Parts: sequence; C-alpha cells; structure tokens
Amino acid sequence: MATNPAEVLGLPKPAWAADEVGMLYDMATRFMSEEIAPRYDEFEKNEMFDRESWLKAGAAGLLCASMPEKYGGSGGTFAHESAIIEAIGHVGVDGFGIGLHNSIVAPYILHYGSEEQKEKWLPKLATGELIGAIAMTEPGAGSDLQGVKTRAEKDGNHYKINGSKTFITNGQLANLIIVVTKTDPEKGAKGTSLIVVETDEVEGFERGRNLDKIGLKANDTSELFFNDVRVPTSNLLGHEEGKGFVQLMQQLPQERLQIGTGAIAMIERALALTIDYVKERKAFGKAIIDFQNTQFKLAELKTEATIGRVFYNDCVARHINGGLDPVTASMAKYWLSDLQGKVVDECLQLHGGYGYMNEYPIARMYRDARVQRIYGGTNEIMKLLIGRSL
Ligand SMILES: Cc1cc2nc3c(=O)[nH]c(=O)nc-3n(C[C@H](O)[C@H](O)[C@H](O)COP(=O)(O)OP(=O)(O)OC[C@H]3O[C@@H](n4cnc5c(N)ncnc54)[C@H](O)[C@@H]3O)c2cc1C
Repeated sequence: MATNPAEVLGLPKPAWAADEVGMLYDMATRFMSEEIAPRYDEFEKNEMFDRESWLKAGAAGLLCASMPEKYGGSGGTFAHESAIIEAIGHVGVDGFGIGLHNSIVAPYILHYGSEEQKEKWLPKLATGELIGAIAMTEPGAGSDLQGVKTRAEKDGNHYKINGSKTFITNGQLANLIIVVTKTDPEKGAKGTSLIVVETDEVEGFERGRNLDKIGLKANDTSELFFNDVRVPTSNLLGHEEGKGFVQLMQQLPQERLQIGTGAIAMIERALALTIDYVKERKAFGKAIIDFQNTQFKLAELKTEATIGRVFYNDCVARHINGGLDPVTASMAKYWLSDLQGKVVDECLQLHGGYGYMNEYPIARMYRDARVQRIYGGTNEIMKLLIGRSL
C-alpha cells in the first residue's frame, strides 16, 4: 500500500471542524496517496488527468461533497470541500482540478439553476461523468471581466454562442462549461449572462491548445472556441438574462477562499518536508538545522504559517456561518497566496541545489505555487478591492 505523505509528515487535520470532516480528510488523503500520487508523474507528462481518476474520485465521494444528497452530493458544507482540497495539497497532487469542479462550478448550478437543471447536471458532476469548468477569461479580457466579448444571441428557443476563451482550467477534459457571455453587449455588466454548455451535445465547440505552463503541469488549461454553438435557452443560469455579473460577484468569496485553502495546505507541506530535509542534510560537520540561520528562517516561516492557518480557519468558520464578506475573502486570497510564494521559495533555498531538481517535491511546489497570485483575480485586483473598502 502506498504511504500516505500527509500522515508521514504529521500534517494538521482540519481540527477546527466536526469529526466527520476529519474523517473525510483522512479518507481523501488515503485516496490521493493510493490512487493519484502513484500516477502523478504520468499526469504531469500528459499535462492532464484521465477520466478514470475523476470517476474514481466520484465513486469515493470526493466530488460535490457540499451538494445536497438529493442531487447526488454528500450534503456537506465548505468545510468538507476544504478538507478535500487540504488533502490534495498535503499529499502534493495539486494539479487535480476537483477544487474548481466542487467549490466553484457545482455551486453556480446549485444557487442559480432551476430544479430541472440541478436534477440534470449535479448528479453527473457528483459521479465525475460530467467534469466542470468555468470560462470567464478571454484573450482580451482577464482582470477586466466587463470586457468579455463572447456573445450569446437568442434565436428562437436557442442561444447561438460565438467567442473564444483562454486559460480555462480543466479545459481539455471538461464537458460541462459555464460560459460567461454577453446577452446584451450594450448594457455592459448588466448585459452579462452565464450559460451552460454541455460540450458532448453541441456542434461548433472546439478545444484549442492545452497551454504549456511553467507549473501545475498535471492540470489541463486550455483555449476554447465557440463558433455558432447552439444551446437551448433553458441552459441560462438564473431566471432572466443580465444577472451574470451579480452571480459572479456573489460566488467570489468562496472561489477566493478556496485558493487560500490550496495555499495553506502547500505551506504546511513545504515546511514539514523542509524541516525533515535540514535535519538529514549535513554541511561543515553538522546538520543544516544546527545553523542558527536555518533555525531563524524556519522559526519565522513556522510563525507565519501558524498565523496563516488561524486566519484561514477563521475565514472558513465565518463562511460556513454565511458571514465571510468579499473584502476578507480577498485578503485571504492575496495574503495566503503571497505567503505561499515566500514560504516555498525560502524552503527551496534551504534545500540548496537539490531544491532546484525536479526529483525533490519542493521544486514542483515552487512551479505550482506561482499561479496562485495570478488566477481567481490577481493579487493586485484583491488589493484594489480591499482598498475600495477603506
Ligand atoms: C493556470 C491558470 C488557470 C486559470 N484558470 C482559469 C479558469 O478556469 N477560468 C477563467 O475564466 N480564467 C482562468 N484563468 C485566468 C486568470 O483568472 C487570469 O489570468 C487573471 O484573472 C488575470 O487576467 P490576465 O491574465 O488577462 O491579466 P491582465 O488583466 O492583463 O493583468 C496583467 C497585470 O496587470 C495588473 N492589473 C490589471 N488591472 C489592474 C488594475 N486595475 N490595477 C492594478 N493592476 C492591474 C494585473 O494584476 C497583472 O499584474 C487562469 C489563469 C491561469 C494562469
């Protein structure tokens, strides 16, 4: 049986939550260690996961953990989603895109979908039969989402969608894509609508390149093209057109918080691995940990990681009680992902040349961490939002 790195490293379980969340975390770390970690190099080489891994995750109850049981989910809360994302980070299989599927895509359908849409899509998202993606970014519109050009024109009881998207996570595998479109370009943000495209059922949809990234190699990030893609008007999320921007804004706190989840999990893993490493490695006749510089560096990082964990847990507790405001969620996204970059960089330094070698996990973490400050709204945009609230 494969070793469970989270257990070996003694990483913290989500101790702040109910026992059942701790049990889910144990199960998820076991699943990631036994089913995913042994094949992770293969996924990095292929630059994507395979469908089988998604179906296995679904069968293990790791998809849609916070969706109601009547739609095939496990009836949990964001605490359950957090436990799964923490397990992914603690085991070190960060490219598995189920965080986005679970805590971004599925909630849009739950919160804005009609009863018919929920019954149709959520159970298949829970089994992994459908893999979710959300397509906001375009070549000409990233931070400024009001600049989205993808157009959805009504044509009888269908929408005809035209446009292109880029940088879309799960973009090569996804077969349920929430597309940010303009239903009324004259109205700017108020003319934005979210429309679901089931890619197995349409013509005119094309996947572009699986983009060549510096990190998160195991995750597919893709261009998508929509050329007269016709979907029924019943695929609109929400009762009326023009609500897309409001829907995006309402869901952002959770999206930003889950970037913080990945950050705190990687911070804890990087520190645990580095503490082990500096105890083993010797220079000038003693272990690297015996140098005062090493102790001071690690003392600083451990302190900051502890502050990060307390802040993160507080954000989750507030979110579960419905009280996480968008400004605090922006703080969590920006501060935790910045801290992740710093901790991983300092930990790599303490590995010396070995830290720069791909065979050491810290090298992969260094590559994978960088994007956290960019996606989900860049950290500059987070500061803009925090600044506006002052
Ligand atoms: C690996 C990866 C996965 C992604 N996954 C998805 C996905 O699943 N779905 C999706 O829709 N998108 C996804 N994205 C896109 C991501 O959200 C955008 O890259 C991000 O929002 C930034 O947009 P941009 O790249 O166009 O940068 P730009 O908006 O061009 O920004 C360039 C620089 O200018 C700064 N800047 C911009 N505006 C301001 C301002 N007002 N004040 C100060 N500075 C500013 C930015 O902070 C940045 O430093 C992903 C990106 C990556 C790299």
